[in-house]
Amino acid sequence: MAYKITDECISCGACEAECKNEAISEGDTIYQIDPQKCTECVGVADSPRCVEVCPIDDCIVQDPKEDKGALLERWKALHPGEEPAAGSF
Ligand code: SF4
Ligand code: SF4
Repeated sequence: MAYKITDECISCGACEAECKNEAISEGDTIYQIDPQKCTECVGVADSPRCVEVCPIDDCIVQDPKEDKGALLERWKALHPGEEPAAGSF
């Protein structure tokens, strides 16, 4: 399930472009994360990019924390033939 956007979201949109897995989209009232596409940025970066750019504290939370190996397998399934970024897993 990885990361989740809470009701604190002000729908600024800053996080959407940061997600290289295209897991973030605009919902009816707030932005949302597709848990089948979120890898907690494993394979992409050394920290969750959406959390880094979100202007609101505690707006994007882990729900729940997942095993890094499982997250890397998810990333590989989303990006066949690509290599994960160094230091991202
Ligand atoms: S943690 Fe990374 S992969 Fe997950 S939604 Fe945020 S930017 Fe996308
Ligand atoms: S960056 Fe934060 S406040 Fe802005 S849309 Fe994303 S989750 Fe909502």
